[in-house]
Amino acid sequence: MARTMRDRLFGKYAMEGTVTVAEQVTSAMRRIRLETSQPVAFPYTPGQPVRIQLKDPLSVLGLLRPADTLRTYTIWDLDPARTAIELRIHLYDGDGIGLTWARAARPRNRVTFW
Ligand SMILES: Cc1cc2nc3c(=O)[nH]c(=O)nc-3n(C[C@H](O)[C@H](O)[C@H](O)COP(=O)(O)OP(=O)(O)OC[C@H]3O[C@@H](n4cnc5c(N)ncnc54)[C@H](O)[C@@H]3O)c2cc1C
Repeated sequence: MARTMRDRLFGKYAMEGTVTVAEQVTSAMRRIRLETSQPVAFPYTPGQPVRIQLKDPLSVLGLLRPADTLRTYTIWDLDPARTAIELRIHLYDGDGIGLTWARAARPRNRVTFW
């Protein structure tokens, strides 16, 4: 498969996932499950983070404000088939792009991550 400009610049392991679960675990923690059609290719060790792309880094907005394109989350669990990643996101009292995404995430949303 041809590598895109994004892959060359931002991560050779970039891939798409679909939100399949987005629910409150507690009032201050949200569970988000991302499922992929192919196994994630990156090496994994427990505690490892993953970058969630919230805006296209090659868009005008992304180029103007690169700090607003990504947020990093620790992989809570990677399933044995490597086709589902669980995240746990702390919903503290803020309105940054990571929190906004976590609150709004719903099943069937598509997400790019690496
Ligand atoms: C390696 C790594 C792993 C991470 N793993 C997780 C994770 O598994 N789950 C998770 O919820 N977050 C995790 N984070 C934090 C996450 O990347 C975001 O910073 C967070 O979700 C807030 O994003 P934001 O865009 O809303 O605010 P930001 O713009 O990132 O931050 C806005 C302000 O809020 C502060 N802040 C950020 N996170 C918190 C917090 N949890 N409690 C109180 N203040 C905070 C920041 O210091 C900053 O002052 C991780 C960060 C890193 C660097």
